[in-house]
Amino acid sequence: MAVTENIVIKAAEIIKKSRKTLVLTGAGISTESGIPDYRSKGTGLWEKYDPTRKASLSALMCNPKEFYEFNLPRWSTYIDAKPNIAHRVLALMEEHGLIEGIITQNIDGLHIKAGSKRVWEVHGHLRTCHCMECGKSYPFVELKEQYEMGINPPRCKKCSGMLRPDVVLFEDPMGKDYYSALEALRGCDLLIVVGSSLQVYPVADMPRYAKKLIIINREPTPWDPKAALVSHSSAGEFFTKLAKALNLE
Ligand code: NAD
Ligand code: ZN
Repeated sequence: MAVTENIVIKAAEIIKKSRKTLVLTGAGISTESGIPDYRSKGTGLWEKYDPTRKASLSALMCNPKEFYEFNLPRWSTYIDAKPNIAHRVLALMEEHGLIEGIITQNIDGLHIKAGSKRVWEVHGHLRTCHCMECGKSYPFVELKEQYEMGINPPRCKKCSGMLRPDVVLFEDPMGKDYYSALEALRGCDLLIVVGSSLQVYPVADMPRYAKKLIIINREPTPWDPKAALVSHSSAGEFFTKLAKALNLE
């Protein structure tokens, strides 16, 4: 659906009035950077396979070779992706004091690449990996290099333990960013949700901590009926217009 001037002006007003605004983003904010999401109709990865089986802790433990064959080439493409206009406008909004920070489910690191400072990556990131035996940390590229040399699963150089990425897999406990994000949500006036189907728990429950909600998502979400404003539109188009309405340069 196209983004009308009315809806953007209304969103800008709500944002300017709010004393404490946070943003919650999902895979949908990065589709315009060329990274497929899970649940979009027609293009979402979910239509081809079940991510809860392919990107899960049990997949890694039971069949690490297959886990890496499936996930590593896909994740490697995320590393080369560039932030889009929605990521960039959100970074500007933080710079102008309009938002306090971004809680993201994405592992692609695009908010940080766009210049956002306060980012809670509640499902981890692709900058590092670590040894499951001795805990030694390596840059993510270690996984890629070993995999490309035919070492699958990649191994720790110190103890030969298996390496794993620092992402939160299905069945993993949530990491410290998730708990800091919950802290940050205390007293939140407004939560702006961008590009999330709000179906992956526990993050899908976060909207209940905010007094007001704005939702920008191409498809309906379970939280739409509770939101002050909903835009079923592209995040890129919405944030291009919002930047103008907020006079951000
Ligand atoms: P999701 O796939 O469940 O939902 C994405 C939503 O975004 C969909 O409802 C879709 O309609 C909407 N959407 C797609 N493109 C859009 C656009 N350009 N503008 C506005 N809306 C758009 O995603 P989710 O809620 O984040 O949950 C999926 C899980 O998958 C998360 O845990 C995330 O960690 C992981 N994931 C991450 C990436 C990434 O890092 N970029 C990519 C795929 C999956
Ligand atoms: Zn080790």
